[in-house]
Amino acid sequence: MYDPLVNNQLNNKQGFPESYWSSTAFPINYDMLDKSINADVVIVGAGYTGLSCAIHLAQQGVKNIVVVEANEIGWGCSGRNAGFVLPGSGRLGYTQLVNRFGLSQTKNLHDDFMSAIELVDTLSSQSNTSIDKTELGYLKLAHSKKWFEKLKDSADYLHNEFDYDVEVISKTDFCQQYVDHKNVFGAIRYTNGFGINPLKLVNSYAELASSLGVKIYNQSPVTNILKSGQQHLITTELGSVLSDKLVIATNGYTPKALNTPIKNKILPVLTNVIVTRPLTADELKRSNFKTHQVMMDTRELKYYYRLLPDNRILFGGRGAISGKDAKNPIYAARLLSELKSSFPELSALTIDYNWIGWISVAFDQMPHIHKTADNIFYSTGYCGSGVSFSAYAGKLLANLIQEQKVDSPLISELPYLPFAQFRRTGQRFFYQYGRMKDWLS
Ligand SMILES: Cc1cc2nc3c(=O)[nH]c(=O)nc-3n(C[C@H](O)[C@H](O)[C@H](O)COP(=O)(O)OP(=O)(O)OC[C@H]3O[C@@H](n4cnc5c(N)ncnc54)[C@H](O)[C@@H]3O)c2cc1C
Repeated sequence: MYDPLVNNQLNNKQGFPESYWSSTAFPINYDMLDKSINADVVIVGAGYTGLSCAIHLAQQGVKNIVVVEANEIGWGCSGRNAGFVLPGSGRLGYTQLVNRFGLSQTKNLHDDFMSAIELVDTLSSQSNTSIDKTELGYLKLAHSKKWFEKLKDSADYLHNEFDYDVEVISKTDFCQQYVDHKNVFGAIRYTNGFGINPLKLVNSYAELASSLGVKIYNQSPVTNILKSGQQHLITTELGSVLSDKLVIATNGYTPKALNTPIKNKILPVLTNVIVTRPLTADELKRSNFKTHQVMMDTRELKYYYRLLPDNRILFGGRGAISGKDAKNPIYAARLLSELKSSFPELSALTIDYNWIGWISVAFDQMPHIHKTADNIFYSTGYCGSGVSFSAYAGKLLANLIQEQKVDSPLISELPYLPFAQFRRTGQRFFYQYGRMKDWLS
């Protein structure tokens, strides 16, 4: 499997990842770039970040916007994620954010997180593609008694400091009203999160971008980036784009040898997803699975899951460390085993789909949106929580490009990863630490 820390370039012969989502929709097809063209803004990468940036630039009147994608639109994380539209991004909780940015800036960030969720609705409603939105609710599940106490404290904190109300749900109520879950000690429910079909969301953004005049090219991996006077020249196999402004929206899929400003500053991390066969009416009843709301636990090494519209369960968690080991079936088996331990009534379930993707993690565990001295713009580092925030980051990128005032603590340069060549060793240690921490908590 393609490994961004091993493969120098990303080739365009990969085919669209086989997933549950690709059984429900095809990514919209676009031509390959096969000539030399000029642009006002060129965007590398057609995931949510790149497409949202293009949409917002076009809505602000920028005329000549080009998006160049190595494979098909949404080929990276955007077309294969779990479809959780979450209130937040990065890995830090609110108290950690306050420690880092101070209360006032964290309040701004909270507003950004809320706006990001609304933006998914606003953008997708401007296209003809339905994104299969679920009922509202993001359930955060305590995996221990201690963690339920922490969740209750965080509910108070969110109410008192941010005027943001989340529901606290006891273990008994959870098992009666949502699903009979054997490993849960209580939950909180964020009332504005929801689930979507991620590939349909990509299509809806691309449809909107195209309708606004944005030119999208598929199957065109960018292999080189050069400064040409005040402009940027990006080169693909059969074409090139000369542009005033350049946006890097390649996130965790950025190939090793591409000379972007995010080189050696992110850790691409694998996450693994299984989707089971549909539950029978009897299994639904016995497990008391009543909810289609999206769920994630409080572990350091988290599991996330949801009941899909056709009553299959999507269940995700960490995967291998390297691309070479990514397809080792032990990772899917581990997810199925955790699923069955949580819902013993579902012990007969089997896996119909399994796929893997690279998320991008920054050293300080938060996204960064930045303009370099060379007039290159980027946003990355969502740490696996980027469905809503990447769309918002695309909007902030567009505002930066248009030289508007943007006030967010996340507008800052990505820090270098110390000892970048040893990042995978560090990741192995982190997984050991996470396992130990989860076991003790
Ligand atoms: C399995 C999985 C589950 C996830 N679940 C969730 C979830 O439920 N909720 C949530 O909030 N987040 C989730 N995420 C994370 C979320 O999907 C991402 O944060 C988000 O999609 C990032 O969008 P993006 O546009 O920045 O990057 P991507 O969607 O990764 O797009 C980057 C694009 O750049 C292209 N590219 C790379 N190099 C080149 C090049 N040289 N030339 C041209 N193009 C190039 C790639 O082909 C790719 O299409 C998940 C991720 C994965 C992998």
